[in-house]
Amino acid sequence: MNSKLILTDTHTHLYSEEFQNDRTEMIERAIEAGVSRFFVPSIDSSYSEKMYDLEAQFPSNIFLMMGLHPCYVKPETYQQELAHVEKALAAKKFYAVGEIGIDLFWDKTTLQIQQEAFKRQIQLAKKYKLAINIHCREAFDEVFEVLESEKSPELFGIFHCFTGDFEQAKHAIDLGMKLGIGGVATFKNGKIDQFLNEIDLKHIVLETDSPYLAPVPFRGKRNESSYTKIIAEKLAQIYNLPLEEIARITSENSKQVFGI
Ligand SMILES: [Zn+2]
Repeated sequence: MNSKLILTDTHTHLYSEEFQNDRTEMIERAIEAGVSRFFVPSIDSSYSEKMYDLEAQFPSNIFLMMGLHPCYVKPETYQQELAHVEKALAAKKFYAVGEIGIDLFWDKTTLQIQQEAFKRQIQLAKKYKLAINIHCREAFDEVFEVLESEKSPELFGIFHCFTGDFEQAKHAIDLGMKLGIGGVATFKNGKIDQFLNEIDLKHIVLETDSPYLAPVPFRGKRNESSYTKIIAEKLAQIYNLPLEEIARITSENSKQVFGI
């Protein structure tokens, strides 16, 4: 039965230390559950080698992004980190620039350099005709301001772990973004499940953000890519469609974004 499912986890940190004891088994478990495509966002240069190793181990399943995460934009190192991103994008094939964006939950003092890093990486995505993968935490206005300034037909991608309201969802879509829906859709206080059925499914992709944000009933525990199926089941309820349809459509949507 699982062989019919083609699920895509559009945001999973497979290289995380959380998986150090069972990484290969965890990935194989996901493939067994029907999750055959994994898109892996970058955080900073310290993880690049681990990412390349994973890609070499699962070349037909694992697809990499390159980018500097907003929480890792630090005054002393961000120029060097951006140079690493630029060099990597020139050297090999990636499927998106990410994860990039603005995070004001952890550190407000770096807003200015976060904005600068976000903008520069959007411009790199345009140069290489790649999607962007946006991280936005307590920073919707600031993220939209940068996106508006870079608005163009060449700007497209995914608003990862989308947690905004209906108006913000429409705004993101209007700017060329799909909405990355993950474990939060299964939370009682997650809110997005209340308006999601008003958003056309063509704008939705699935993600886990493993090892973070595990869906109910695993909330608070380690998340893993096999739980993409739980998110798909939740969307099947919200959209009143068979699970196979949700899997097929959201995987098609991810192909549009990543080109594979
Ligand atoms: Zn992430």
